[in-house]
Amino acid sequence: MKMVLSSDNAGKLREFRDIFAGSGIELLSKKDCGCTVEVEETGSTYEENAYLKAYTVMKATGLPALADDSGLCVDFLDGAPGLNSARFTGSHSDSDDDRIALLLKLMGDTEERSAYFACALCCCLPDGTVLRGYGECRGSIAREKHGTDGFGFDPVFCPEGQGGETMATLGEKAKNAISHRGKAVKNFKAEWEKYIHDQQ
Ligand code: IMP
Repeated sequence: MKMVLSSDNAGKLREFRDIFAGSGIELLSKKDCGCTVEVEETGSTYEENAYLKAYTVMKATGLPALADDSGLCVDFLDGAPGLNSARFTGSHSDSDDDRIALLLKLMGDTEERSAYFACALCCCLPDGTVLRGYGECRGSIAREKHGTDGFGFDPVFCPEGQGGETMATLGEKAKNAISHRGKAVKNFKAEWEKYIHDQQ
């Protein structure tokens, strides 16, 4: 079964492809489908934004479309950057390094460094079916960057129970096994299998 990922984020595509490997779902990029629609993230929740992204790309391509909306919620910053994680510095075109630099500056040397990643997943099918999954990963914000794997805030996010490693030093397989995205996909797969079963 072919499915389009409604994202231009190469890091997300790589992770989703790894997580879906062997599931019978072939994940295509928007580029693979010649799909150039841009979706404005105007929702006020991760779930709304994931739906907007999946629905728009499903309509544009005629294929089942999968989207996630995710973000980093830092307790010391009252949950920021949260929904605005990709636009944290004010511009989508700033780099991950720019966003990390701002985060570390705002955190200063506070001892209150707890945070979590959240991921809402939505899949819109051409028959009108909407399937979802949600996952969180708790951890803390490091005082400096470590590692080069992953994307986004990975070099400064230390997931709980991983001995102080950051997401960017753990390696992709280990990250996907514990990440918010990995958990959201696991929950989504249960919905997906029920849907496929009901079709038969
Ligand atoms: P969006 O879901 O496209 O709105 O972007 C989510 C933003 O949250 C990304 O651009 C990253 O800054 C951050 N983010 C989401 N998931 C991860 C992750 O797994 N690692 C690091 N940063 C992430």
